[in-house]
Amino acid sequence: ISSKLPSVTPSIFSIMSQLAKKHNAIDLSQGFPNFESDTRLKEMAIKAIENGFNQYAPMEGILPLRMRIAEKIAALYDKFYDFDTEITVTNGATEAIYSAITAFVKKDDEVIVFKPAYDTYEPTIKLNGGKPVQIQLKGEDYRVDWSEVASAITSQTKMIIINTPHNPSGTILDKYDMQQLEKTLRCTKIILLSDEVYEHIIFDDKPHESVSSFPALAERAIVCASFGKTFHNTGWKTGYCVAPKELMQEIRKVHQYCVFCINHPLQYAFTEYLKNPEHYRNLGNFYQQKRDLFLDLIQNSKFTFTPSKGTYFQLLGFENITDERDTVFAERLVKEFNIASIPVSVFNIAEKDQKELRFCFAKTDETLEKAAKILCSL
Ligand code: PMP
Ligand code: GLN
Repeated sequence: ISSKLPSVTPSIFSIMSQLAKKHNAIDLSQGFPNFESDTRLKEMAIKAIENGFNQYAPMEGILPLRMRIAEKIAALYDKFYDFDTEITVTNGATEAIYSAITAFVKKDDEVIVFKPAYDTYEPTIKLNGGKPVQIQLKGEDYRVDWSEVASAITSQTKMIIINTPHNPSGTILDKYDMQQLEKTLRCTKIILLSDEVYEHIIFDDKPHESVSSFPALAERAIVCASFGKTFHNTGWKTGYCVAPKELMQEIRKVHQYCVFCINHPLQYAFTEYLKNPEHYRNLGNFYQQKRDLFLDLIQNSKFTFTPSKGTYFQLLGFENITDERDTVFAERLVKEFNIASIPVSVFNIAEKDQKELRFCFAKTDETLEKAAKILCSL
């Protein structure tokens, strides 16, 4: 059959999760917490169902939730998005990314993507006939070389995708990066897609530099967010995107015919829960403790690492343990040692040289302790 994505295979997240289940392994592969979200939030969702919010929601998301999102962004990033025309509630950040790329990327358009990259960007670009232009992040802490970005821009460049804090490396873009990005995009019509799903999971008192707070970037940017990461319920698949009106009206055309609207009762639950900023303000500290515990427990192991600066992922280098490729080592770790991780080369260009695995530390302390014991035994 002639189809659009002939070379796409099942995602590494599905593969590793299934392997972990099959081998009854400790699962630090796919990124999700193994603890529950706040009982009050669950009660709010149940209440919304009981109150009858069980039919289609408005296409763009319910008004009170869009108002809450506008308030939150204004408070955090000093930028006001019009809740009528500039905010859309989506089926997780994944749908926001899909709708944003699909709305703008046409045949032969180039889209700059930094590698390693989260896995949804490139198939979506290709589905729309676009061409991913890959730029490798550099060094141990995966920095952007902005001169390389400047020289990758051509008359065909339609979009550039950034992700901060960055999955899988845990690196972050700082103010300098944002200023370089501004400089690079000045005098171009390039659309910026900023994946900020880990905006609240950032460590060591560093601020999250949102594209929203840089006016010259915000005027050309679509910013994507995910409630799943922030409120420990990735399975609820709720998120949103914000963008200037002219961009958002095009994104809504895709959203309208892709999903029309998203889950109605959960939107009421999040509206209620977002009233209290304490529900997300401490998330960085919460996960920093988990990162520190995990790194403390494995500090005498043979793994090498640079502490993650954000997200709930930690990369561990295994060059002192084996010469195997990361995919081979990751598979052996599940099968022989009952611990699941994600091999980074699946998101990377420099596939052969990759000697790093990604571990998710959004787990109970008990799980992290068990995992560390295994890792220290290698
Ligand atoms: N972007 C990145 C970088 C992610 O890690 C994820 C979640 N794994 C997503 C987007 C998708 O978020 P959601 O689950 O809300 O669709
Ligand atoms: N974002 C999650 C991760 O990076 C995976 C989500 C998915 O399975 N698509 O692990």
